[in-house]
Amino acid sequence: MQQASEATAQQLRENWSRAVDDVAQACAAAGREPSEVSIVGVSKYVGAELAWQLAAAGCCILAENRPQSLWDKANYFGQHDSVSAQWHLIGHLQRNKLKRTLPLISLLHSLDSFRLADAINTEQLAAGAGPLSVLLEVNVTHDAAKTGMALNEVHKLLQQAPHWPGIAICGLMAMSSLDADAPRAQREFEQVRLLRDDLQREYGQQFQFSELSMGMSGDFKEAIAAGSTLVRIGSNLWRGII
Ligand SMILES: *Cc1c(COP(=O)(O)O)cnc(C)c1O
Repeated sequence: MQQASEATAQQLRENWSRAVDDVAQACAAAGREPSEVSIVGVSKYVGAELAWQLAAAGCCILAENRPQSLWDKANYFGQHDSVSAQWHLIGHLQRNKLKRTLPLISLLHSLDSFRLADAINTEQLAAGAGPLSVLLEVNVTHDAAKTGMALNEVHKLLQQAPHWPGIAICGLMAMSSLDADAPRAQREFEQVRLLRDDLQREYGQQFQFSELSMGMSGDFKEAIAAGSTLVRIGSNLWRGII
């Protein structure tokens, strides 16, 4: 393996521990316990070796937004098995990439259509695998520039979901609008939490919507204030490195 320089590894350890501190502070400000929020380290900006260094620094959940990059990195990790990390996919999953992707991930944040859910269910059953944990990616602001499902699609999917043993719905994922300032981002995240609470009331017999994947480097504080349980941090972790 090509070794990252010791200076890089050191910078990465510092960035990781700062991210952990920042999240703990945001939790304290929101009256929450740090244990309620997990940091998902987004490695899409770097190659497999640096992603591996991040895991070695203590980040045990890594995420990619493109299936192909996730395959490459998971493969690299498989050959360097002295760190343990799990992989999450946070970007769009094309149906022709299901077969290779699903066995590698412990959580799909970005379930964004009824058709994809149906295809995942079929694939998990065909593979003899247990249910895949997924989050429904929602677009509560009806922002055309944003990815994620509108409410009617979410309901349609949840009505069908009891017939999909290959899928375990665990919560929601959302992004704030691109141009949102901090107060607006917080309002948008709160809308997502309220939607979660509504869905919990309506479908709570079948599903536990316990996870809320909200917040990135620029808005994780607002997301934590609004109830996020998974913050997807990229840029902040790679400062001074890329
Ligand atoms: C890139 C990405 C992130 C991380 O964003 P940063 O601003 O770099 O922290 C989070 N979520 C998704 C879906 C992404 O694509």
